[in-house]
Amino acid sequence: MAYKRILLKLSGEALMGNQNYGIDPQRIEQYALDIKKIHEHDIEIAIVIGGGNIYRGVQAESSGIDRVQGDYMGMLATVINAMAIQSTLEKHGMYTRLMSGIKMEAVCEPFIRRRAVRHLEKGRIVIFGAGIGNPYFTTDSTASLRAIEIEADVVLKGTRVDGVYTADPEKDKTAKKFEKLSFNEVISGGYHIMDMTAFTLCKENNVPIIVFDMNEPGNLEKIVVDKAPLGTLIS
Ligand code: UDP
Repeated sequence: MAYKRILLKLSGEALMGNQNYGIDPQRIEQYALDIKKIHEHDIEIAIVIGGGNIYRGVQAESSGIDRVQGDYMGMLATVINAMAIQSTLEKHGMYTRLMSGIKMEAVCEPFIRRRAVRHLEKGRIVIFGAGIGNPYFTTDSTASLRAIEIEADVVLKGTRVDGVYTADPEKDKTAKKFEKLSFNEVISGGYHIMDMTAFTLCKENNVPIIVFDMNEPGNLEKIVVDKAPLGTLIS
């Protein structure tokens, strides 16, 4: 049986496509069409989007900007991406709500858990912008936290690699992909899936994570609807 409610994490960097900054129109279009396919199966969809294609807090210090200030700049970057995704989804006929971890009445609703769940029940795609609204966190942590709060069945981490490997597949040709891993195997093997805060939240609350290649059109539907063993499942 297909997943009922999912939390899709998209990295900001993936949105860049082959550019070195900003949003690639073809990439965002492909994402929207993939999301539409699963939406047509009545799957409840929440999305967390990163901001790495525009700004990251860790960049700040090297340019003389205070780290906390930089983190807020990163959070604002995620809102820009979220608005772009929202607009593209709506262009394709989906109803959406953008909820922000930082109050920004003119462009989005504040994050209110019960309200987010209600939107999902009504078939609206909920996009969570501005991370959790606090510095020193990442959008991966946001994905884990929001997934727990809305009781999502799974966190889908869309990346440009198709799963977790024994070594970096771009450097080591003998690297093998895992179909499944337990949370403990990820820790003992030292595999990097997401930052520790994000990972621990999923582990302690038993939210499975699937790492998969979001850039391959159709993958999202195969994983969510057919539960095809693409990517790597961590549970
Ligand atoms: N950020 C933050 N708190 C949050 C989420 C994000 O401070 O709850 C900041 C942080 O500086 C981060 C930036 O926003 O570097 C962009 O998010 P992230 O790096 O997670 O984006 P991604 O790597 O997924 O593109």
